[in-house]
Amino acid sequence: MVRYPEAMGDPLDREIRLSLWKIHILHHAAHRPVYGLWMLEELAEHGHRLSPGTLYPILARMEANGWLRATGGTGSSKARKDYRATALGRRVLAQLRNEIAELHCEVVLGR
Ligand SMILES: [Zn+2]
Repeated sequence: MVRYPEAMGDPLDREIRLSLWKIHILHHAAHRPVYGLWMLEELAEHGHRLSPGTLYPILARMEANGWLRATGGTGSSKARKDYRATALGRRVLAQLRNEIAELHCEVVLGR
């Protein structure tokens, strides 16, 4: 596993990794409901240590874009929200999957 340096506010995070995190979230949310803390731990497993203050706005934006649908989290602000990929989110993911595969061929495999 590649470990990336902890770098809050690193331009790489804003410019490029932000998109990679969204794809990662979409991937997991297409398989099962995910929630913020689980996603923070999952990203940390991959060496991406995001703060909740970074992750939650991403989840909210993805929900606003119609890629994720949240359930729960009503009543108490501390209640857990579960996020699942919507049909639109799954279509976006399917398209991105093709683009990632093509990019992987060139950038990683050098084909
Ligand atoms: Zn993952």
